[in-house]
Amino acid sequence: MTAGRAATPRVDVIFFGAPGAGKGTQAQILSAQYGYRQISTGDLLRDNIQQETALGHAAASFMQRGELVPDDLIVEMVKDNLPPADAGVLFDGFPRTVEQAKALDDLLQSEGRGLPRAIYFYVQRAALEERLLGRWTNPRTGRVYHERFNPPKRDRVDDDDGGPLIQREDDRPEIVGHRLDVFERQTIPLIKYYDVAGSQRYLKIDAARPIATVTRELLDALESAPAVRTS
Ligand code: ADP
Ligand code: ADP
Repeated sequence: MTAGRAATPRVDVIFFGAPGAGKGTQAQILSAQYGYRQISTGDLLRDNIQQETALGHAAASFMQRGELVPDDLIVEMVKDNLPPADAGVLFDGFPRTVEQAKALDDLLQSEGRGLPRAIYFYVQRAALEERLLGRWTNPRTGRVYHERFNPPKRDRVDDDDGGPLIQREDDRPEIVGHRLDVFERQTIPLIKYYDVAGSQRYLKIDAARPIATVTRELLDALESAPAVRTS
């Protein structure tokens, strides 16, 4: 915990942005160092695939092709894994469609919580491809590295648990391009959903800057953020 950063407000926040924009990296830093709770739908889906659950079976082919998993499956999974409201929750990679965004607002309101803030991580497409193609992931914890921008201390070995790092199947060049197209078609409409005049719930950040710079901007934004009331 960093001095002067202790008074974390308990605000729920969603991180959205293209694959590779740095959402998971920042969510991991904020949860490990600043006490936020992270829920990552990509990590939950990969856990389900590994454990061979019915959800994992249903989701696998969509993920391999770089398509979104159907909204009803995702919303059900989030309901089943919703962290309590005691610490601010970071929704990493969810919502990814307007349907999911509406479902999350309804869910949080039904629990008596304020509406979540929405932070859009903006990075240009060429930089996203470079990030995804150089990403190395710990399949057990979801922690990510980059071979150039954020390398582990030892090549292909996780700093935390010493286990091997892998390149995700869907980070191959032929799938990456399609995932970026899917983002533009299905997730970009979230900007209009959240950026409503007067609502003060939307923030766009320049996520092309170095990791530590983005973390600082997020902390400043989150700590100055009042909870968004539902009425
Ligand atoms: P990235 O970190 O590259 O954005 P994720 O790990 O978040 O990727 O997601 C990997 C895959 O899991 C997506 O391509 C999609 O198939 C599925 N997925 C994750 N979150 C969602 C979601 N909210 N809605 C639909 N599909 C999702
Ligand atoms: P997302 O969860 O949005 O798909 P990740 O957090 O997995 O994105 O980051 C994608 C890749 O880019 C990873 O290899 C990560 O180490 C790297 N990365 C994340 N943030 C930055 C940054 N600000 N500058 C350079 N590389 C970054």
